[in-house]
Amino acid sequence: MPLFINRDQIFAHQVHLLEHKLRSKEERILELETENAILHLRLAECLGKLRRDREEDTKAVNNHPLKTKIIQSSLIKLHSQVQAMKQDLSEVVAVYVNFVSELEDKSKQLLEKVEKASSCLSGYPADELQKLQAQIAALECSLVEERERCRSERQKRKELHNTLVELRGNIRVHCRVRPVLPLDHVQLPTCGSGLVSSEEVVHAVSDDTVMVDCLKAGMPVQQKMFEYERVHGPEDSQDIVFEEVKSLVTSLLDGYNVCIMAYGQTGSGKTHTMLGCQPLEEPSGMQQEAQQGIVPKAAAELFRLISEKPADSHTVEVSVMEVYNNEVYDLLARDEKGNAGGQRRDVITTASGASQVTSLTYEPVHDASEVMQIIRRVLKLRAHCPTLVHMDSSRSHLVVNLTVSSKSPNAMALARRLQRAKRDMQSSSHKEWWSPRCRRANPSARCSPEELLPSPASSLGPSPSLSPCPSPRASISETTFRTKLQLVDLAGSECVGMTGVSGAGLWEVSCINRSLSALSDVLGALAEQRPHVPYRNSKLTHLLQDAIGGDSKLLVMLCVSPTQRFLAESLQSLAFGARARQVQRQRPHRRSNVLKVK
Ligand code: ADP
Ligand code: MG
Repeated sequence: MPLFINRDQIFAHQVHLLEHKLRSKEERILELETENAILHLRLAECLGKLRRDREEDTKAVNNHPLKTKIIQSSLIKLHSQVQAMKQDLSEVVAVYVNFVSELEDKSKQLLEKVEKASSCLSGYPADELQKLQAQIAALECSLVEERERCRSERQKRKELHNTLVELRGNIRVHCRVRPVLPLDHVQLPTCGSGLVSSEEVVHAVSDDTVMVDCLKAGMPVQQKMFEYERVHGPEDSQDIVFEEVKSLVTSLLDGYNVCIMAYGQTGSGKTHTMLGCQPLEEPSGMQQEAQQGIVPKAAAELFRLISEKPADSHTVEVSVMEVYNNEVYDLLARDEKGNAGGQRRDVITTASGASQVTSLTYEPVHDASEVMQIIRRVLKLRAHCPTLVHMDSSRSHLVVNLTVSSKSPNAMALARRLQRAKRDMQSSSHKEWWSPRCRRANPSARCSPEELLPSPASSLGPSPSLSPCPSPRASISETTFRTKLQLVDLAGSECVGMTGVSGAGLWEVSCINRSLSALSDVLGALAEQRPHVPYRNSKLTHLLQDAIGGDSKLLVMLCVSPTQRFLAESLQSLAFGARARQVQRQRPHRRSNVLKVK
């Protein structure tokens, strides 16, 4: 079939194609125009931003000179200050230089004066000069003499005072203020009051006066003064403290009963004063010895004094007791099995009115170290057997007794004379010459030393236990007299609150409080000379009856803390001491008089 191609159709088709292309081109142009417009917009935006940035930069650039100006002005100021300081410095240097030259001038003048004076002196007649020198020496000498006289007068005054105290039958009271210790540094409950717990408020102002600053928040300071026979400040050593009580050990050998009792709250230094700073430790070296308390020092002094007496004229025995929960325990006693431990003992009043502990154990001792060994043994025993008695020593009263049996040398000489006389008489006739009234101690009885101690009532006559003596040998023992040194470390005197304590603790606390208030009551009754003195209200006062109200020489050693923290307790202890000083008892009685009366 023939193929006919119409040219018009071909052209029309091409036109159509071209028209189609044109249209798509026009659409593309439109698209590009839109994009172009968008790009224009973005360009305008960027240009705007660029302009703003540039404006800011120019502004910043415009501000810069201001800053520079500020810096410049402060620099100028600083510079002027430096200048002023330089000026000051130069002035100071000038003053210094003037001062140095002035000093040089003055020292020159002084030297000139000294030279003049010495030339004057050299011009002084030699004998005049010698006279002057002699006068100076004499003055110096008399000054030393006066000082010595003053010291001895003071010593005499003290001795006279002590004699007066003794004659009046007064209780001697010493007070020791301990140093501030870490235990004083505690936050006070009265927080915000401005009071500091470790502030020192108790001061030893002289050797017989204590001054207490009573500080109360918001109140003016009140000062209270207390006077005692002797006051020791925190700086006073154990040696100084002992030096003041040493004479009592001599009194013991002179025939007096003696009691030294430490009173004060827990932590005030009672054990430190009585036993030493480490009572459980063996002393080694001089330093440790210096730290020893009254008990070891008194024992050493006692044996030193005995060593000066005729051999075998004195024997010493020790007994240790504890008053705990109103019971007396013999700390040297052994139970049926021979085990060491505290055994309960009774306190009785003898026919002569003296108090005595039944079946008390006495251990003979030959030197001070033996005494301390026994005490250490007892203290360790207490520390390791809490059930035996108790652990804390401040919860009981500890009583150490040193009993001295003395044979009077006069008595020994008399006995020897009697022996000789008997021999002479026996050789001449067999007639019995002994007076039936001659008495002796019962040699078979190993009675407790207290039974042999002449009581105030019995001291002027023979003891009831004495019987006629058939031999002069026995008469030696008849003249033996016993004196005792009681050394007491009392339980803490603070009034312990009952809150938080229960059961056994409650009983323990109440026993301590009751025994110490009984002690106070006894002193009160004695001071007021009441007919009835309530010794039997507590085992402590019953045990110490002889010492407190009897004829012993009694010394109360008040121990006080120096700080605000313990102010109330310290005031209480100081008041106790003041009360004790008011007591007037019978004059201390000398045991050795027994021989003279016979
Ligand atoms: P208390 O027996 O009254 O409870 P302590 O004797 O145990 O008190 O003393 C408490 C603490 O204070 C102890 O550590 C003791 O060594 C110390 N102390 C007490 N008195 C003094 C003193 N005068 N010098 C130095 N330390 C002391
Ligand atoms: Mg103690």
